[in-house]
Amino acid sequence: MLWKFSHRAQALKSSTIREILKVTEHSDVISFAGGLPAPDAFPIAEIQAAVNTVLASKDIYDALQYGPTEGYTPLRQWIANYLSTRDQIAISADEILIVTGSQQALDLIGKALINEKDKVLVETPTYLGALQSFNQFNPEYVAISSDEKGLIPESIDDKLASSAKFLYSIPNFQNPTGRRLSLERRQALAAKAKQNDLVLIEDDPYGDLDYQGQRLPGLYTLAPENTVYLGSFSKILTPGLRLGYVVANKQFIGKLVQLKQASDLHTPSLTQYIAYQIISKNNFLNHHIPKIRQLYSTRCQYMLHSLAQYMPKEVSWNQPEGGMFIWVELPESINATELLSEAISRKVVFVPGETFFAHAEKNNCLRLAFVTVPEEKIDCGIKILAEIINHHIHQ
Ligand code: PMP
Repeated sequence: MLWKFSHRAQALKSSTIREILKVTEHSDVISFAGGLPAPDAFPIAEIQAAVNTVLASKDIYDALQYGPTEGYTPLRQWIANYLSTRDQIAISADEILIVTGSQQALDLIGKALINEKDKVLVETPTYLGALQSFNQFNPEYVAISSDEKGLIPESIDDKLASSAKFLYSIPNFQNPTGRRLSLERRQALAAKAKQNDLVLIEDDPYGDLDYQGQRLPGLYTLAPENTVYLGSFSKILTPGLRLGYVVANKQFIGKLVQLKQASDLHTPSLTQYIAYQIISKNNFLNHHIPKIRQLYSTRCQYMLHSLAQYMPKEVSWNQPEGGMFIWVELPESINATELLSEAISRKVVFVPGETFFAHAEKNNCLRLAFVTVPEEKIDCGIKILAEIINHHIHQ
């Protein structure tokens, strides 16, 4: 059969690196590659109890029925209250749309905003899944420089800010770098957005995973009129529920609702009822999130310790204050993609950094995910990686 794929479908390419990494998924490999949350933190007992409660309740028919595109109203109300308390900003339920994972929000936002060749500003590096979503609509990416304090607002001049469709940013414990945007830069970015009518897409799946529990004000708090906020239950409950949400003004939410109707009618009712059942009881997240922070912070410290112990002096990395990733920079002469096959042959994997750049600007960097790897394996894996890197530096 000769499939007559659309130009859009033809333009999609599988990521070579994802294909390589797939091979390593089910073996005895030490994987620092997957951006998966730790299964040890999944609240299995609570999910089990919530499923039983929903199945036994009088709401069961609604939970198994089609529902409103906007999402399950009590869940939207709960999110509005949670965010209003956490961020000290008034948010109402009708400014919230429940989505099938925040990944769906990226797809809907691309559909809502991007015409071919529109300027989309992205951090360097940025989340690969966002680039994949936006790529479908052929934007012209403008890469905004960043350093260890996150993206640099001064590098966006007013002409660029006012001509761009939007800026996509992950201010908290960014994927892939683990960096957090500093308070001064948040304020500068919010001011620039207000001055130039620039839309900010604030993607925040890691915001609650702050090891010290000290949240910085978000872009939505600083510039609510300009910002579309994306939240997710993937990292604080489980990703398999596929639950995320968008917070934005009602007009923008209305447009996303129309697009979502065409896409999947609504997010599964059953998972929304189950999640609501868990999080609305006994301040569940107030107890659960600190446990995840503790687990992730311990694994992060382990990895930082192993890096300090084994890596050659020419290699540098950041000290994350939250989240799931460490970003490693190698000397410029070393291509991380070329190291990958050697690492696989020694049963260790990571994601080479070039994957995360809109224009493949850099390849001497890599992302290490530490949360799914037990402590003893972290040490063993980093030792092997350091040997490989050392060999390449000194050959
Ligand atoms: N944004 C970022 C920055 C992510 O890292 C991820 C998932 N790894 C997503 C969005 C998608 O998350 P979800 O499971 O909510 O679709």
